[in-house]
Amino acid sequence: MKKRILVTGGAGFLGSHLCEFLLAQGNEVICLDNFFTGRKENIMHLRDHSLFEIVRHDITMPYFIEVDEIYNLACPASPVHYQYNAIKTIKTSVLGSIHMLGLAKRVKARILQASTSEVYGDPLVHPQPEHYWGNVNPIGPRSCYDEGKRCAESLFINYHHYNGVKIKILRIFNTYGPRMHPNDGRVISNFIVQALKNRDITVYGDGTQTRSFCYVDDLIKGMADFMESPEQLTGPLNMGNPMEFRIIDLAEKIIKLCNSGSRIVFEPLPADDPMQRKPDITLAERELDWKPVTGLDKGLEKTIEYFKRLSLD
Ligand code: NAD
Ligand code: UDP
Repeated sequence: MKKRILVTGGAGFLGSHLCEFLLAQGNEVICLDNFFTGRKENIMHLRDHSLFEIVRHDITMPYFIEVDEIYNLACPASPVHYQYNAIKTIKTSVLGSIHMLGLAKRVKARILQASTSEVYGDPLVHPQPEHYWGNVNPIGPRSCYDEGKRCAESLFINYHHYNGVKIKILRIFNTYGPRMHPNDGRVISNFIVQALKNRDITVYGDGTQTRSFCYVDDLIKGMADFMESPEQLTGPLNMGNPMEFRIIDLAEKIIKLCNSGSRIVFEPLPADDPMQRKPDITLAERELDWKPVTGLDKGLEKTIEYFKRLSLD
């Protein structure tokens, strides 16, 4: 059935893919964004679609609209961007969630929160299952993001318990693909841009820290499946690709795939940088029959193609 859907952060990396996916399914989509890290180029190709609308708005301020579903993705997601104005980042997660949950309550919409593997901090349990409470420094440089997202989860679960709001809490692990911001400082975009320009590849620390990378199409499909799942499946639910890689190995792989002459240089590891991360996706597999299908090489090739086109423009 065709629905009217609000996507906050719809002009961002994940949000733009989600808007595209939801439109392709015949839904009406309202893309709300303050364009802090989101870009018009990400959604330009959807502009003339009769079921697509763009709204410039900041979710730290209330917003009212009649919708059936809300995907709450608005929040800067890379350390460089979320640390740019830490207090604003907290406000976006906390006030933004309060406003969107209030809206969901009023119009009886389902609402999905784009939470994050960062709620596990520098994890002492590996891989991370949903019942692990995490290891987060509440006053560290990542806390504006991590604690903002943790508070948002608390808001979601309490609006559910006390107000009967239909919620979905999705803990997203590192996701990559076309439309990542070239300057967001995230490891995949950084390495690809550096490799394509034959610049030094900046590995922080000794590169033995690990991450697990999910290709965007896999994640978006899972996100939509979760939204449509039975009401009692509120999450938190992990989504990501459990294939785990060391950052140094990722650097070497990207140099190879880009046919680059770049060399690897080592820079200091940022404070509180998690040493390991890998999702336990048993719950998503069992409840949604979801698992990622795109391997890292395939996903990187598509992402490299995107960055090549970008640098030609
Ligand atoms: P992104 O920065 O590309 O997208 C975020 C979007 O939100 C941008 O378009 C930005 O302009 C918008 N935004 C920020 N603050 C806003 C505000 N106050 N009001 C309205 N719009 C605002 O990042 P992304 O990677 O697409 O992430 C989307 C969501 O998914 C974020 O909530 C992020 O925390 C979450 N997430 C992403 C990843 C990942 O690996 N990409 C991992 C975990 C969680
Ligand atoms: N990283 C790196 N070089 C870079 C950018 C990131 O070595 O140019 C490392 C970073 O220290 C971290 C990992 O890559 O250990 C993933 O970083 P990213 O910011 O992409 O994601 P997050 O740390 O939020 O998972």
